[in-house]
Amino acid sequence: MEDPRTDGAGSARREPEAAAWGERVARFVRGRVFPRESVLDGGGPEAAEALAALRAEARAEGLWALPLPAALGGGGLSFGAYAELAEAEGASDHGPAALGSAPLLDVTMLARFGRPEVREAYLKRLVAGEVRTCYAMTEPGVPGTDPFRTATRAERHPDGGWLVTGRKWFTSGAAGADLVTVMARTSGAAGDREGLSLLLVPTGSAGFRVVRELPVLGAPGQYEIALDGVRVPADHLLGEPGEALAIAGERLQLGRTLRCLRWLGQAQRAFDLMCERAATHDGSRGPLADQQLVQAHVFDALLALRTTRPLVREAVALIASGRDARTEVGLAKVAAARMLQQVADSAIQIHGAAGLGPDTPLPALFRTGRAARILDGPDELHITAVARRVLRTYGRAG
Ligand SMILES: Cc1cc2nc3c(=O)[nH]c(=O)nc-3n(C[C@H](O)[C@H](O)[C@H](O)COP(=O)(O)OP(=O)(O)OC[C@H]3O[C@@H](n4cnc5c(N)ncnc54)[C@H](O)[C@@H]3O)c2cc1C
Repeated sequence: MEDPRTDGAGSARREPEAAAWGERVARFVRGRVFPRESVLDGGGPEAAEALAALRAEARAEGLWALPLPAALGGGGLSFGAYAELAEAEGASDHGPAALGSAPLLDVTMLARFGRPEVREAYLKRLVAGEVRTCYAMTEPGVPGTDPFRTATRAERHPDGGWLVTGRKWFTSGAAGADLVTVMARTSGAAGDREGLSLLLVPTGSAGFRVVRELPVLGAPGQYEIALDGVRVPADHLLGEPGEALAIAGERLQLGRTLRCLRWLGQAQRAFDLMCERAATHDGSRGPLADQQLVQAHVFDALLALRTTRPLVREAVALIASGRDARTEVGLAKVAAARMLQQVADSAIQIHGAAGLGPDTPLPALFRTGRAARILDGPDELHITAVARRVLRTYGRAG
């Protein structure tokens, strides 16, 4: 019988080199990151200290920044090879930061759209973990699902450069970031389809402020930020004025796929915990594993995992070969978010009150699953975008 802890599609087709990395990464995440999760989840100076220690250990073991370009100090794994181990790395929300692969999106974006001065100033330091970044698109009072209504503005400064003014919120990691990529309107009026640009803003600039933390279901890490006439050098514009949505679209496509891989890793973890619990604990009528309603949770969770994984792999394969993956990424994102929420919920149910308490990672896994259905675009946005794209191929304009 196939081991339900594998992907069901068989691991034989995996590249042997990627499989070896995957095992080492999985051991590191299980053995080093999992035990420190409660400290890391708490935020503050203790979390920063624990993260710094983990990063030093990852470097010492040759596991640092595996998917980042070797020329910049990374491990040089291709996206396809990294995707093979991203599930294991992402089994903890803290895995990518601990192993130095978290800057992959920013490094990819800056390498493609940053001006030479920006690439020179930041890329190597980003890969080394000396510079931290965040990404600010969503604004209070403006639907994040409609970027055309972005209210933050960047005006040209008479001496060159830009003056950025606006508010952003749910900016992940803003409090500890050195740079924030800000979507701002550089021309036109709110609602226009043109005129949005991306600027890389150093958070040490006058006028930049973290307004408050926004705990998500009790967890730290999200912030509201204010930009009050922040002066940004001209060379910190990414791409050309008006190119924000094209650049953001490329970034989001890669970012959503990476999240899907990580959510698979987290769902597999919840599934394993659920099965271990069912196999080792009794309920009022004997072993939990013998109860058909428990077996139904196990079946449905395994089905969700096994049907989601091929969708995510399809998105990975298209992105790795540079093809249009919008439909596949939309399908994978909705499926993976629902799947993580469902599997974590079942695992909590089988644990009873213990599943809601502090002794298992299940509350954190459930929280990630719930947030997954909103961040990077809520389910509804992907559902309608995919359906419209499909219907257009049947002759329905829309
Ligand atoms: C944990 C977390 C981390 C985040 N990190 C970041 C970050 O780092 N940077 C950043 O910029 N943003 C971030 N966000 C914000 C996130 O990307 C937005 O919340 C998301 O894109 C939705 O935007 P909104 O909240 O403004 O919802 P709205 O656009 O106001 O939508 C609210 C709801 O309306 C419904 N809806 C909207 N459009 C449609 C539609 N077309 N059809 C049907 N129903 C619809 C949906 O139910 C949707 O959930 C984060 C959010 C969370 C929860």
